[in-house]
Amino acid sequence: MIPFLDLKNINQQYREELITACTRVIDSGWYIGGKELQSFEKNFAEYCGTQFAIGVANGLDALILTLRAWKELGKLKDGDEVIVPSNTYIASILAITANNLTPVLVEPNISTYNIDPIKIKEAITAKTKVILPVHLYGQLADMPEIMQIAKQYNLLVLEDSAQSHGAQLQGIKAGNWGDASGFSFYPGKNLGALGDAGAVTTNDAELATMLKALRNYGSHEKYKNLVPGVNSRLDEIQAAMLDVKLKYLDQETQHRRNIASLYLNGIKNPLIQLSLSSINAESYMQHVWHLFVIRCKHRDALQQFLLDHGVQTLIHYPIPPHKQQAYKECKNLSYPISEQIHREVLSLPMGGHLDIEDVSLVVKLCNEFRVNG
Ligand SMILES: *Cc1c(COP(=O)(O)O)cnc(C)c1O
Repeated sequence: MIPFLDLKNINQQYREELITACTRVIDSGWYIGGKELQSFEKNFAEYCGTQFAIGVANGLDALILTLRAWKELGKLKDGDEVIVPSNTYIASILAITANNLTPVLVEPNISTYNIDPIKIKEAITAKTKVILPVHLYGQLADMPEIMQIAKQYNLLVLEDSAQSHGAQLQGIKAGNWGDASGFSFYPGKNLGALGDAGAVTTNDAELATMLKALRNYGSHEKYKNLVPGVNSRLDEIQAAMLDVKLKYLDQETQHRRNIASLYLNGIKNPLIQLSLSSINAESYMQHVWHLFVIRCKHRDALQQFLLDHGVQTLIHYPIPPHKQQAYKECKNLSYPISEQIHREVLSLPMGGHLDIEDVSLVVKLCNEFRVNG
């Protein structure tokens, strides 16, 4: 069986270093808000090229608290509109509705899966205050164009970089394009903790200060609460685990790129569509392949065929956000491109657990797939 993902295999590579780091935290007697967090925040900011990284409990909180901070800073108010891709993972949209802001869903490009800048322009109204692009599957959205639109209409930009640690374009990484960016370090993400964790990156000192307060009950200073905050901290053990794994992120990304290039060059079945670059060849080169997603009109049959031959695949995602029960008020809205994507996409195995033989087998099977009749 070729599993879709194998976290045990991935973390096993760093076992000794992880245990050393874990032991250091246990022996320090300091478990929240100490040296490990400080070190990871510094190293992750440096990695992204930003001035600040603020650790929080998870990726959803990174997005929720950034929008919340903008409200506290007077940049947003209830009912303001946030433009977000209609085919994103639901967390991007939950962050908007959790803040009493209004999500405005905008369709992606069918071949890149990323939000279409031309449609962003069409969706802008007097109430639009934020664009929330998602670098889906590991490829940067068209940030040069999106930043241009944001400047023209005076909008804030919050990147959802949960799937794109290290992706870049024109030498600028995910997390350093917008006014702020949310990252997730959920175990299965490209940079994964051994539990939940997340961070916000930004170059805005005022926002960073507000986020540090919000994650800690709204307290800038012990026992003084300026704003009603929450408890959303990145604890010392997870920060220490992340600091170990950050050192190997580029190496793991390179492995993902090698796998992707074997898939891209090897899969030649007219029934299967491969993704395209969002912008140009450069952006494709810098894709970090959180997921390798193909499209097929006979997706379910293809998934079954691969499974019958020992290859596990997943669907990201089977139901578009506007068709979820959680957003039942949207169920009559129509987003045909997203609906097609959700019907046709399939994610092939991707990650450090795969070797060349595994990938060659997946390629061979994809090329052998036929439809009956
Ligand atoms: C994983 C993910 C999130 C949420 O991150 P958590 O750490 O699971 O809360 C948000 N947006 C996208 C696009 C994601 O893939």
